[in-house]
Amino acid sequence: MIRRRLSCSAISAEATAFRWENCPLATGAIELEEIMELDLRVEIVPETNLLHRTGGRVGSLSANGREIRVDAAFQSGDPREYRSFLAHELAHRRLHMKLVPGRKFVTREAFVSFHELLDTALGSDLEYEARRFGAYLLMPKSEMLLVFKQAVDVARDRFSGDVHSGPARMFAEKLLADHFGVSEARIAIRAGELELWQEVRREQRWRGFIRTGLTG
Ligand SMILES: [Zn+2]
Repeated sequence: MIRRRLSCSAISAEATAFRWENCPLATGAIELEEIMELDLRVEIVPETNLLHRTGGRVGSLSANGREIRVDAAFQSGDPREYRSFLAHELAHRRLHMKLVPGRKFVTREAFVSFHELLDTALGSDLEYEARRFGAYLLMPKSEMLLVFKQAVDVARDRFSGDVHSGPARMFAEKLLADHFGVSEARIAIRAGELELWQEVRREQRWRGFIRTGLTG
């Protein structure tokens, strides 16, 4: 069994705490850039061609957690992917800052290469945690359950009751993606881990059973 550094429930609790502290009433797509710049005082610095210069890294957090450098084209590109990127970097800031050895990094490059030298098991644990935090922060479970149900109802009306066809699922996931301000791919992963479509399938079987039971 893989022993994780932080459990999923601990990461989820951190994401919930962050929302309570910074945007307790927010629903849907949270204004993460605004929160990070104005409330957390993290400076977001766009840089031209960063993606090319770093061999595919769209951005990173500084060692002291006060600055995020981001590829300028990526920042002005898809706002949903940019929001997910910020959530990921925020996770490193919130969950992993204490792992950074103090004063060790004179330059940002030194900090980036420290990342690359991290023990691969620890490194992949930290990345896993950051991805989990991002998902919990941007698509909280309770809101996901509620909005998913609404999206499925809309899809059911539009696709004459059949919500399991590819187009109906894509339609519902698009509604969720628009609501939460994330990509459809991230919605599909989150819906998968919460087993939301399985739940719909079970419910549909019951509906069918009740219908045939009543008419048969
Ligand atoms: Zn990361």
